[in-house]
Amino acid sequence: MSYFSDAREVIAGGVNSPVRAFAGVGGEPVFFHSASGARVQSEDGREYIDYVGSWGPMILGHAHPEVIETVIETARDGLSFGAPCVLETRIAEKVCAMLPSVDKVRMVSSGTEATMSAIRLARGHTGRDKIVKFEGCYHGHSDSLLIKAGSGALTLGVPSSPGVPAGLAEHTITLSFNDIDGVRSAFAELGDQIACVIVEPIAGNMNMVKPVAGFLEALREECTGAGALLIFDEVMTGFRVARGCAQSLYGVEPDITTLGKVIGGGMPAAAYCGRGDVMASIAPDGPVYQAGTLSGNPVAMAAGLKTLELIDNDEFWTALSATTQSLVDGLAAAAEETGVPVAVENEGGMFGLVFTDRDRVSTFDDVAAADVDRFKRFFHGMLDEGIYLAPSAFEAGFVSAAHGAAEIDQTISAARKVMATL
Ligand SMILES: *Cc1c(COP(=O)(O)O)cnc(C)c1O
Repeated sequence: MSYFSDAREVIAGGVNSPVRAFAGVGGEPVFFHSASGARVQSEDGREYIDYVGSWGPMILGHAHPEVIETVIETARDGLSFGAPCVLETRIAEKVCAMLPSVDKVRMVSSGTEATMSAIRLARGHTGRDKIVKFEGCYHGHSDSLLIKAGSGALTLGVPSSPGVPAGLAEHTITLSFNDIDGVRSAFAELGDQIACVIVEPIAGNMNMVKPVAGFLEALREECTGAGALLIFDEVMTGFRVARGCAQSLYGVEPDITTLGKVIGGGMPAAAYCGRGDVMASIAPDGPVYQAGTLSGNPVAMAAGLKTLELIDNDEFWTALSATTQSLVDGLAAAAEETGVPVAVENEGGMFGLVFTDRDRVSTFDDVAAADVDRFKRFFHGMLDEGIYLAPSAFEAGFVSAAHGAAEIDQTISAARKVMATL
């Protein structure tokens, strides 16, 4: 028996979110019971240096004393009111102060809810149905967003999961990330029907792919020209790649931003936010309906607000970026020494590592062509060495402020040892 086989008896697939099941790497998932700083402890008594960070939220490291303290104090005053509380205003003020593109915020409980609501808002505000997304970007699991490209660029999309009505697919246009020409021709043909473009400004759900020069600018230009809204899905990149999110790095302002992961500091919180006139279309000010029993939950707001307060300074970002850079440089050097071709990428506290002959990956096809078998062996080798990476070749990695020189050195030594066996 194992923790996983027990779980499989009573939980669908043994996990409450599929990528946790290790299907992408083989073997059984590790069950954790505690975490602190850069490390996680497993039920079977092992300790790992963690580069998943709960898939992004734990930017301060696990169980940061000040975050834990504020969560406990807030919880003592009650877990949920279903009525307004001041913490909701405080975190919204913080988001507005950190993101110049944002005038108004609406809190929700998950990234999926944020993107789903942002799409409804864009459709309701523009009175149009079609949306544009990019292959390899992930925006949560709502129906309109679980659509992949059909056979040709402008042909109908197809549902990427059973249960998604084919009728919805005809409203979702899926283009290639970083393909500026593809965007221009989609707008030339269908611009007046497009409600919005939704994009991860740095793609983090196909390993890590940065936008090529001019890509985000072209999206901005086409949206503005066609009267469509530009949605940056910064659920992953928000407060993860830079103090002002990815939008501050490229100087392109979206109309709507979706946030999740870091904004909850490890608690279930997310947000969609943006231009005042657009946000005015949401109920009760406007006609676009969206609601949530636990939205703006005080304990989640406290965790998120404390996290944002602690990362809202340049020293934090300089240090975090330097740590990530040293990790990525070390991994690239280890790969070079051992003759394993890799492409690496990093920004702020986020990094990518792809086993490929290319120097750089810039498209979904580049990432899809990576050597997945080699990644699987690397993953399990690192796990044996006490390093916990995301259990899929197509995920980004995350570094926290609690990762120090000791953790980075240990990780690079392990990588050198494991790569030599690949
Ligand atoms: C994680 C993620 C989501 C979905 O967030 P959940 O909280 O898992 O629902 C949406 N968009 C992006 C870019 C993400 O990385």
